[in-house]
Amino acid sequence: MIEETKMNSTTPEVAAELRARPAFVMVSHVKPDGDTLGAGLALGLALKRLGKRVAYFQQDPVPRNLRFLPDSQHVSRDLPENLPPDTLYVFCDMSDSARAGEFLPPITRENVLDVDHHLGNARFGALNYVLETECSTGTVVMHLLRELGVPIDRDIATCILATIMTDTGGFMHSNTTPEVLTLSAELMHLGANKEQITEEIFANKRLAALKLLGRALNEAQVEHDGRYIWSYVDEAMLAECRADGEDTEEIVNHLRSVEGVEVSALFKAYDGDIRVSLRSSGRVNVQAAASRLGGGGHFRASGLTFVGPLPDAVRAVDEALAAEGL
Ligand code: 5GP
Ligand code: MN
Repeated sequence: MIEETKMNSTTPEVAAELRARPAFVMVSHVKPDGDTLGAGLALGLALKRLGKRVAYFQQDPVPRNLRFLPDSQHVSRDLPENLPPDTLYVFCDMSDSARAGEFLPPITRENVLDVDHHLGNARFGALNYVLETECSTGTVVMHLLRELGVPIDRDIATCILATIMTDTGGFMHSNTTPEVLTLSAELMHLGANKEQITEEIFANKRLAALKLLGRALNEAQVEHDGRYIWSYVDEAMLAECRADGEDTEEIVNHLRSVEGVEVSALFKAYDGDIRVSLRSSGRVNVQAAASRLGGGGHFRASGLTFVGPLPDAVRAVDEALAAEGL
């Protein structure tokens, strides 16, 4: 079904809606990262300061490296009972509502606010607040916090800085603009704990994750005259390294860092369907390639789910990338 789309709402419109509603569910996407979760927690904490009732919905458990985020202990796949009928569901960091998973009750569109920064966001809410030029959904939320006039305390500042550091790859990606660095400095002045974010999100790797990285690097295939590199992780590799899905996160970025590589792909073939992560150095649009196969994301980082055997997935992704000029 093709959803009817509505373009962006203005910052004052969204802030007015937030002030008007009594209760909120912040929704983050499956396979959560520091942006989807940090953005929801930051807005949730701010709304609590305004006296609102706030719950956090996430289908998957909070990943080990994000459990330090303030209020993340309240994240659950079970919604509280007796939520009022005019509860607003705030979907954070997802280009379509299906990214929230299958466990949400049916929600009518009038109760949906879509807050995001992805290219090609489906505008699935009654209100859509999608700022594609922002580096993270957390910095999109920052505009709302300023409009609401909520004081940014150290907890909120830490959540927002975590979204920035997640989506800029620790200030390494090309979305790290001077404005992003200025805002990050401001958040540190407000008490954001950058050291903790660095330590927990980037430096706290399990040995199992590094072993799995080694295993995946061993399997890597270089194609298209060195411009494309791909690898995979299957159940046997996870078992051998005593690793789990969370330990796969960084592998695709390491593959991308290989000299001469323009696109990297990691095929995660262990949960039934194959999850594919794509990264680009900036010439090939991997968001466009992923959307050819029903996925999405950003120009330089995207993902998709493929139903079928690994060799078919590898071939389909190769074709989609070739069609985008790889
Ligand atoms: P990752 O490779 O880290 O899972 O995802 C990279 C980027 O692509 C993220 O911004 C993520 O939101 C987006 N993405 C990953 N998988 C999907 C998907 O199945 N559908 C859509 N629309 N976006 C995805
Ligand atoms: Mn994001």
